[in-house]
Amino acid sequence: MESIYPSVYRLQRSAGSNGYLLLDDDRVAVVDPGLPAGGGKVLEELRSAGLLDRVTDVLVTHADLDHVGAAAAVQGATGARVWLGRADAEILEGKRQPATRFRRLLARRKTPEITRGLELLEGGEEPFPGVMTIATPGHTPGHMVFTFGDVVFAGDAVRGSNDGLRLMPGFLTSDPREAKASLELIAGLGARWLCPGHGRVRELREA
Ligand SMILES: [Zn+2]
Repeated sequence: MESIYPSVYRLQRSAGSNGYLLLDDDRVAVVDPGLPAGGGKVLEELRSAGLLDRVTDVLVTHADLDHVGAAAAVQGATGARVWLGRADAEILEGKRQPATRFRRLLARRKTPEITRGLELLEGGEEPFPGVMTIATPGHTPGHMVFTFGDVVFAGDAVRGSNDGLRLMPGFLTSDPREAKASLELIAGLGARWLCPGHGRVRELREA
């Protein structure tokens, strides 16, 4: 685990996207546990850090397999609640079409693993002590970002880039207008640390 900010760590062994850990007194939340194939390694990492028994929550920014895929493994090993935006939960549960044509093609070949017992987010909830949920649709219809202190976990609402905050490519965007508004919303939060779904953690401003 790599320390980013007090009580915030980046997972080293998750696969497909950036995974993070949040520590409260006796509780741990995993943010975006990654691809299903990396689930076993995430559990090993948590176990070797002595944290596996303390995991109570999995916070998922959106329903893409590289973010939500290992949630089932973490839930299976710990009984943790899995939190996901309502519209993305409907996609996972097969009640709603995947968010873009590209994702619909992917879904024909590989159906995402459905996580049992989802806790639905609309935005505005506090799913874990100190965490605030913000609805940020555009990359997917139910995309959520999570803030914690001076940190924002941005999922795929933001693409890692050296020249400011940018959007993910259009073929992965369910609604370009919403995506742009969500990006502006995230920039306007004024958070110091941006923890994106892909690429490096970035310092947006001086302390
Ligand atoms: Zn995504």
